[in-house]
Amino acid sequence: MLRAGRGGVLGGRWTKGIGMRVLTVAAHPDDETLGAGGTIAWHTARGDTVWVCILTEGASSRHDRVEQQLDCARRACDTLGVHNLVLVGLPDQRLDTLSLLDVIAPIEQCIEDLQPDVVLTHFGGDVNEDHRLVSRATMVATRPVPGTPVKRVCAFEIPSSTDWAPPVPGSVFAPNLFVDISGTLETKLTAMKAYADTYRSEVRPFPHPRSMEALTAYAQRSGAVSGLLAAEPFMLLRESSSGGMGGFAPSVAPS
Ligand SMILES: [Zn+2]
Repeated sequence: MLRAGRGGVLGGRWTKGIGMRVLTVAAHPDDETLGAGGTIAWHTARGDTVWVCILTEGASSRHDRVEQQLDCARRACDTLGVHNLVLVGLPDQRLDTLSLLDVIAPIEQCIEDLQPDVVLTHFGGDVNEDHRLVSRATMVATRPVPGTPVKRVCAFEIPSSTDWAPPVPGSVFAPNLFVDISGTLETKLTAMKAYADTYRSEVRPFPHPRSMEALTAYAQRSGAVSGLLAAEPFMLLRESSSGGMGGFAPSVAPS
């Protein structure tokens, strides 16, 4: 497992025990920014500790410039203020050739190391097979055994995958949590611009969902349905609250 970012697991800005701890589990470099970049930036600006775990190298199914792809992930996560970026390096678009255990193990290791309060990951009905497998693996890794630190598991939306799924049972993303990113949308877009420098740019011209214009429109659309100027949508998959109804995380408002 590769570790990168601000000084590794115990270095840099990470101080265990201060603020909320958030783990974002993504299949490919760029998913963390597309799905939760504004939310991550919100948390890091507040002083919470955020780790990002990216399971695949995100490139080898299309080209061999893997290190260039990972450099863009480092830049994007640096922009978002991520404290620790864990690059696992599993094969891009080929997670279905592995045992699910191979996908679960690095996620479990991050949970063991960080002890996160919140885990953010993919929606299980996405078009992309890697996304679906990472979602399944994360649900296993966060199973609510006694003593687990994880209090909340949420699924994010990936423009150009979640929204391209067919309208069949299990594939319809129905968000019920909206995080206000009106103050961090610009940071999210800046982070996404790092992915324009991959060998084959992950940022596409409008009206592709991974264009700057579309990402802005998605944020405004989610804001419009939740009374906010800009928002990121999530589906709450599981929560164990010791603070009464809504008493756990004031950062996330119900829809
Ligand atoms: Zn992806």
